[in-house]
Amino acid sequence: MDVSAPVMTDVAARVVDAVKVYGTGGTEVRALDGVSVAFPAGRFTAIMGPSGSGKSTLMHCAAGLDSLTSGAAFIGDAELSGLDDRRLTLLRRERVGFVFQAFNLLPTLNVAENITLPMDLAGVRADAAWVDALIEVTGLGDRLHHRPSELSGGQQQRVAVARAFAGKPEVVFADEPTGNLDSRSGGEVLRLLARSARELGRTVVMVTHDPVAASHADRVVFLADGRLVDEMAAPTTDRVLERMHRFAGVADEGVRS
Ligand code: ADP
Repeated sequence: MDVSAPVMTDVAARVVDAVKVYGTGGTEVRALDGVSVAFPAGRFTAIMGPSGSGKSTLMHCAAGLDSLTSGAAFIGDAELSGLDDRRLTLLRRERVGFVFQAFNLLPTLNVAENITLPMDLAGVRADAAWVDALIEVTGLGDRLHHRPSELSGGQQQRVAVARAFAGKPEVVFADEPTGNLDSRSGGEVLRLLARSARELGRTVVMVTHDPVAASHADRVVFLADGRLVDEMAAPTTDRVLERMHRFAGVADEGVRS
C-alpha cells in the first residue's frame, strides 16, 4: 500500500506496515510482522487465521485498544498514534463500536437501556429513528423491557450488537462474537452483522477462527504468523476451509525448530 496516496474516503479503518512486538530479547514475539490492510466502509470483513496468528492483536491495534510497535493505524483519517490518551478515549467512544465474545451487558438494565447505555454515559442523545431501525433489524422489539438474564445467549449478543451500532460508529469491531454461542444462535448474530453492513451501510470487522462465521462476511483476510497471507471475496465455508487447510499444510512442511 502506498502510504503517501490520498486517504480513500471509503476506507473506514486501516493499518499500514503494522508491526507489534511483545516482550524483548529471547522472549520477543512478533505478533504482527508488517501488515497492511484496509477495511472498506459499508462492508463486513472477517479476519481469519489459526490460533496465535495475530488476529486479536490486529483488531486491538486497528481499534485503538492497543498501540503498534511501528507502522500506523487509522480510523477514518485519524492516525491513532498521533492522539493523546484523552483523544484516543473519545475516538473509541464516538467512532468505534465493539462486540466481544462475552456479551458484557449490564444485568440490572433492561434491553433498551443496555442498547443506549454508551450514549447515556457520554451524555449524547440517541437518534431514536436509528435505534428503532436497529431494534427492527435485531428482532428485539418484544424484548425491550427484559433484563439480560431473561434472554438466551444469542439474544444477549444481539443486544450487544445493537449497542455497538447505536452511536453510529464508523466501524464496529467484533472479536469472536459467536464464540460462546451454539451454531443456531451464532448464525443469527452473524446474519445480523451481515445485514447491518448490507442494509444499514455499517462497517464491520470481525475476528474469527471459524470458517462458517467467516463465510457470512463480504471478504476474508487471512493471517498466518503475523503476516497477511491472502484474502478472499464472497467467501463460502468450503472455500475458507480449503484455504485454511492449505496454510496448515504449508506450515507443516516448513522447517520448525
Ligand atoms: P490470535 O488472535 O490469532 O490467536 P493473538 O493476536 O492473540 O493471536 O496472538 C499473536 C501472538 O502474540 C501469539 O504468539 C501470542 O502468544 C502473542 N501475544 C498476544 N498477546 C500477548 C501479550 N500480551 N504478551 C505477550 N505475547 C502476546
